[in-house]
Amino acid sequence: MQIQFLGAADEVTGSSHLVTVNGKRILLDCGMFQGHRKESIMKNFAFLFDPTEITAVILSHAHIDHSGRLPLLAKNRYRGPVYATKATADLCQYMLRDSAYIQEKDAEYLNRKFPSKETLEPLYITEHAEQILEQFSPQNYAEWFEVTDGVRAKFLDAGHILGSAITILEITENGATHLLGFTGDLGRDDLPILRDPQIPEKLDYLITESTYGDRLHAPFPDAEKELERVINETIARGGKIIIPAFAMERTQEIVYALHLLHQARRIPPLPIYVDSPLATNVTEVFGRHMEDFDDHAWDNFLEQNTDPFSFGNLKYTHSVDESKELNQKHGPIIIISASGMCENGRIVHHLRNNVEDHRNTILIVGYMAEGTLGRKLVEKAPAVKIFGQELKLNAKIEIIDAFSAHADKRGLLKWIGQIKGLQQVFVCHGEQQSALSFANTLKNELGLQHVIVPAWREKIDLL
Ligand SMILES: [Zn+2]
Repeated sequence: MQIQFLGAADEVTGSSHLVTVNGKRILLDCGMFQGHRKESIMKNFAFLFDPTEITAVILSHAHIDHSGRLPLLAKNRYRGPVYATKATADLCQYMLRDSAYIQEKDAEYLNRKFPSKETLEPLYITEHAEQILEQFSPQNYAEWFEVTDGVRAKFLDAGHILGSAITILEITENGATHLLGFTGDLGRDDLPILRDPQIPEKLDYLITESTYGDRLHAPFPDAEKELERVINETIARGGKIIIPAFAMERTQEIVYALHLLHQARRIPPLPIYVDSPLATNVTEVFGRHMEDFDDHAWDNFLEQNTDPFSFGNLKYTHSVDESKELNQKHGPIIIISASGMCENGRIVHHLRNNVEDHRNTILIVGYMAEGTLGRKLVEKAPAVKIFGQELKLNAKIEIIDAFSAHADKRGLLKWIGQIKGLQQVFVCHGEQQSALSFANTLKNELGLQHVIVPAWREKIDLL
């Protein structure tokens, strides 16, 4: 039994691990590398295995850094199953089509901008996304399913985003049976909408994420209080609140939190717009998977037949015209729009129209990578360039980071500490410093002996 770490090793993107057992190859996640452009493009294009030799793919959740290269598998003639939870399969319908569209547009843009260079081929196109979507095999949580001879799997709720799963593989090789767990991305206790991460009773081996393995988050209830303060202060100034948010999960969490504040009359009934077609589609998927919601959502909304994602003056815009009309609105309103890091999409227009007015607030609720417009906002640069235009950043920048969907150091440690039987732990999906620091924490605090931070492409035989 062997694992090769093909992504999210020494970094947080490109999640992908190849498990070889009984001569069969099982791929855990097939994520996109994101970040520094040239290096990511090279890593994304090259699979380090022959996709036609893979027996099965198991997908932890719908985030693109875990699912984004699935269409590339189809492009390279992989025709086997992709096992995922039902909600993940539904979310991927939108996420992978959207990703294919972005790949096509990116290649088109670069070819137009640099006509003298060699024509750049998109990583994949819509046809490949459609192909891989047909290969999805949706599964229930907590039910074993056969993967291949001697291997069965089941999903536990990871509490990270809707549909997110911890994968448990039960592997029988040479007469011995072992349990291998893969966290995917591990969520946090008390996140809105989602159940808390489930804990496997016993595992022999674990591949864990470590995104925040060296940091602690503010507790979630603080996020709601902060949201209330930011909104009421902006209303008092007569300004607008612009919230760049990822279309999947963060937008729904913000809408959910706003609904609670509205219900409790902690904010006045002001107009709220979700201005992102992808976010609107994803919100519909949430509505189809209420069975995955936590008790809080059931007690506060679903038991009363109330839709958590619909209230008061909340509107989901569809057409470009509807989106443009928002520019004409005066007085306090909230606009939630994608993309999350402000690099493209409708949010860029809203920022252009609103950053210069000191009454407005730009509310940052997610991670902003280096080099993005979002990061410049976080750093409160005196001016920002949007669509080639230099604009003064007069709007107030507010940052609420308690919305993070990842367990922090304490959360990861508490979760792993409750699993019995661990012989070997692989620490992945973290920047190097975070992964190394968390590996030491596991050794020191839990007394685990075999804790490894694998390098990209490293192959390790299991004990
Ligand atoms: Zn994720």
